[in-house]
Amino acid sequence: MTQITIALTKGRILKETLPLLKKIGLEPVDDVFTSRKLLFPTNQENIRILILRGSDVPTYVQFGKADIGIAGKDGLLEHQGDGYYEPLDLGIARCKLMTAAPVGYQPTDGKLRVATKYTKVAREYYAQQGRQIDLIKLYGAMELAPIMDLADEIVDIVDTGNTLKANGLEAREMITEISSRVIVNKASMKTKFPEIKDILSALEAAVSS
Ligand code: AMP
Repeated sequence: MTQITIALTKGRILKETLPLLKKIGLEPVDDVFTSRKLLFPTNQENIRILILRGSDVPTYVQFGKADIGIAGKDGLLEHQGDGYYEPLDLGIARCKLMTAAPVGYQPTDGKLRVATKYTKVAREYYAQQGRQIDLIKLYGAMELAPIMDLADEIVDIVDTGNTLKANGLEAREMITEISSRVIVNKASMKTKFPEIKDILSALEAAVSS
């Protein structure tokens, strides 16, 4: 029996992914939210699930340690790896990747200080705009950077905008719309095609129903 490993992104994306997997008849045997395990068997003998940080999902799929991954487009853009296809947009965990600045802030002509965890995306975006920046890599709480005068702007995920508002910031420019995508290891797509095709078709039907 051909074994299939699926890497899922923990947190918000997982909450929206599990109902989708249930719809296609796939369920982890343990409660993934309370268990401390990271590798779960499922109700289908040949399918197992890994629960990872979003930024690690493309790495596991790229190296073929997971055949299929589900991850936010933000993480995939930042990863910029190859070794996998991105065949399906699940349309879940939608949000926007945006620039944001303190309410009313007007950038001056000098170099803009930009704090973000999305350094690759930000570098490309500001370069396209022809704007000179100093990038400051942060791993969380980007909203704090302008308050503490560590940065002039941030690049971050915006959903309702409440987090920005609570910190005196406002969204400025939209870089791209984000949703969760299915990625598939390129070699697995060939060697495990029937199994992977079945899962992709079922997911496609589930998201469009
Ligand atoms: P909000 O206050 O609703 O604009 O949410 C903003 C914060 O929630 C961001 O700083 C993100 O860390 C997180 N967030 C919201 N939506 C998503 C998503 N779809 N994927 C990942 N993180 C998200």
